[in-house]
Amino acid sequence: MRLYNTKTKKIENFVPREEGFVSIYTCGPTVYHFAHIGNLRTYLCEDVLVRTLRYAGNKVKRVMNITDVGHLSSDADTGEDKMLKGAKREHKTVLEIAKQYTDAFFEDFQALNMVMPDVVEPATHCIPEFIHMIEVLLEKGYAYKAGENVYFDTSKLDNYYVLSKQNEEELKVGVRDDVDEDSNKRNKSDFVLWFTKSKFEDQELKWDSPWGNGYPGWHIECFCMSMKHLGEYIDIHCGGVDNIFPHHTNEIAQSEAYLGHPWCEHWFHVHHLVEKGGKMSKSSGDFLTLSLLKEKGYDPLAYRYFCLQSHYRKPLEFSYDVLDQMSGAYKKLVNRCAQLSAEGEVDQAAFDKYTEEFKAAVCDDLNTSSAFTVLFDVLKSDINDATKRKLVESFDTVLGLELLNASVEEETDSELEAYVLAKIEERKAAKKEKDFAKADAIRDELLAKGIALEDTREGVKWKKV
Ligand code: AMP
Ligand code: ZN
Repeated sequence: MRLYNTKTKKIENFVPREEGFVSIYTCGPTVYHFAHIGNLRTYLCEDVLVRTLRYAGNKVKRVMNITDVGHLSSDADTGEDKMLKGAKREHKTVLEIAKQYTDAFFEDFQALNMVMPDVVEPATHCIPEFIHMIEVLLEKGYAYKAGENVYFDTSKLDNYYVLSKQNEEELKVGVRDDVDEDSNKRNKSDFVLWFTKSKFEDQELKWDSPWGNGYPGWHIECFCMSMKHLGEYIDIHCGGVDNIFPHHTNEIAQSEAYLGHPWCEHWFHVHHLVEKGGKMSKSSGDFLTLSLLKEKGYDPLAYRYFCLQSHYRKPLEFSYDVLDQMSGAYKKLVNRCAQLSAEGEVDQAAFDKYTEEFKAAVCDDLNTSSAFTVLFDVLKSDINDATKRKLVESFDTVLGLELLNASVEEETDSELEAYVLAKIEERKAAKKEKDFAKADAIRDELLAKGIALEDTREGVKWKKV
């Protein structure tokens, strides 16, 4: 399998350390709020990676953490803990917030038909392991105590910036405006391993440690948890591109200091889903969640289809127009697959030929759009239905679109859609004529049929109620 590696900045022939077995660590969600659909894009691409590795004949063990402590609002270790912010926002405890949003996250995960990781563990379950690791880093001279916190000393490493293009000069420019600069740090890039003293004294969850009552930094979590479940070496580490610096850079620093040897050779990063205006946010503008898409009538798998049309190493712009097109295309595809009869004998030669083509596409740095081309070639070809069906079933173990299992009522759905869209147009025309009574009557007529209309900035949306 060929896969881009952020560490070498090249597409490489990926070979796991142990033949036929791949260990993967994935940075999990910070559970202070719902995941936005951008976060979910990252997990979707990781899901395709895991499915592809399995399709290519490997066993995969995937570990994911749940960040329920230590992830601060600012990467410079100066902001408030995101979890505490969430708890204050909703007048709940941190643990209540963590439970609520962990459940919500896995609900989205399953609605998008992602395969559950083999191990999922919240950071708050691993406090003794973090403390032990920090003790070792202090003993080895890679960490120091200052201002009642424990810091990692990045100057002790020859190649701290191995993963990122960032260098010390750029960093200095980056922090020039940072009024919250931490004067305890010996070097600008040093980071906190254990806090006992932060500006935010009201931290809710704290644990006893040799350095006082406090809580761990975010970066120690991931390396420690990965080692706990996958040992001293892992094959692939995943995350979104924003994790490259400082989070993953700091994970590498800790791991190499602690282990005394390289830890992970292959780094897989997914580029961001962006909105027209720029960055996707949980606090300003529309907070785009999967629940919002569902409320608007979209099938979560249509969002999966939307994501799979583009390459994971390219930023993807979200728009309802494109999602509408993708949603229609997905319905058509499911409908077409549902019509394939299972009767007849499978043509093995044709099966093998298309399987090879599909495998070549997905194993080429997860080229999912080429994989769809193979799928459409199969559907257009003159091979019999039984062979097509078996190929679709096999491709879907990678695509995860429930191509043969999704409900077949699409025909009636598209008729319904055409009917509702015509009614929406009629209502628009009535409004233009200032015939509001007629416009309201159309809305009521649809409501009586179980269809609710919503006037939004992007136009009229409808959903079944
Ligand atoms: P968080 O819950 O903030 O720790 O983020 C969870 C995952 O989503 C991380 O792997 C991030 O790198 C990733 N991520 C954050 N924003 C986006 C985005 N707009 N598009 C894709 N992935 C993102
Ligand atoms: Zn992480």
